Amino acid sequence: MTSLNDNYSLLAPGPVNLHPEVRKVLALPMIHHRTPEFDAILKRVLKGIKSVFQTEQDVYLLTSTGSGGMEALLVNVLSPGDKVIAIVSGKFGERWADMAKTFGAEVTIVNVPWGEAVKVSEVEELLKKNPDTRAVLCQACETSTAVAHPIQELASVVKKYSETLLLVDAITALGAYPLPMDAWGIDGLVAGSQKAFMLPTGMTFLALSQKAWKFVDQAKCPRYYFDLRKEKKANNSGETFYSSNVAIIRALDTVLGMIEKQGLQELFRIIHRRAEFTRTFGLKLGFGLYAKSPSDSVTALTVPSGMDGQKIRLHLEEAHAITIMGGQDQAKGKIIRVGHMGYIQDEEQVRLIECLGHTLRFFDPDFISLEHISNITDEARAWLRDNP
Ligand SMILES: *Cc1c(COP(=O)(O)O)cnc(C)c1O
Repeated sequence: MTSLNDNYSLLAPGPVNLHPEVRKVLALPMIHHRTPEFDAILKRVLKGIKSVFQTEQDVYLLTSTGSGGMEALLVNVLSPGDKVIAIVSGKFGERWADMAKTFGAEVTIVNVPWGEAVKVSEVEELLKKNPDTRAVLCQACETSTAVAHPIQELASVVKKYSETLLLVDAITALGAYPLPMDAWGIDGLVAGSQKAFMLPTGMTFLALSQKAWKFVDQAKCPRYYFDLRKEKKANNSGETFYSSNVAIIRALDTVLGMIEKQGLQELFRIIHRRAEFTRTFGLKLGFGLYAKSPSDSVTALTVPSGMDGQKIRLHLEEAHAITIMGGQDQAKGKIIRVGHMGYIQDEEQVRLIECLGHTLRFFDPDFISLEHISNITDEARAWLRDNP
């Protein structure tokens, strides 16, 4: 099995390689969630996670994938018929817009060409015409295109509208690069365990601003499992409302401890360095950059003409035990996506570049010579050494 290979690298934009300490914690014996031992962990986590959200507000931990967290943000502030502006620049933007429609919102879509970032002025124009808009939805990083959207600028526009909330899907952003919730004035922020939080799949973390909480009681969307009011009450008495996800919360405690020790800015710097590396050496190998405003958490590389990204992805996995992702929908076959979140060692990044070189050569021996691959690999190793 590929994953049992000692050299196996999971370099997808989530799920990601787990830190050895996290793997150890995940193997611990199960404990009950209504115990003093777990209560202490939960208390520490609920406090500690605020520093990653960079908020004074409470952060909620729900057992569901990230999409559940996206739904939770919507149903807790929206009522059927509410006006929503959804920025759609890829697969995840599409999903959130669909979700809002499913719950009866009147959704105006701001279509952004794949690979590009939203023009904030377009949203501003829409808000001017529709000041009664309840929410603007945007991905911080649209993982399907590896674009980072200008969240700070969006927030400064939305802030001017007292009835409008900025909800941000930061599932591949929060914990990977700066997104200070309070300082920027983000009203709803959602993260996912298997992406920037470096954990297994299965939990979502989210917070609402004070401005957003004002709409929670009046929101008329049906909600049961995702009713944050229940969770708030339970958290206030030191518990989660439903059974706690002991395994992941315990591992989250470990991750938060590591982030605290390392410093959030240092974590951002490390992820930025990985992104710079992939962009630099991806280009040297003959790939292009797909995103015009590239995110640090994931890089989308356009494949050389005549080559197929899906085949490159498969070959890399089968021949070299490295998992990256291809493109979806209109980007299918045209791009490969490399994740920079999680536990990644320098040597893994060098190996990725080297193996990508060999993969290009496998499909077209005339595209790149063995000598060129070897030179680029040496250069890559030197780059990491010179840019610690
Ligand atoms: C992965 C991802 C999601 C969906 O998360 P699931 O955990 O698969 O539900 C949503 N938004 C973005 C931007 C993502 O990268």
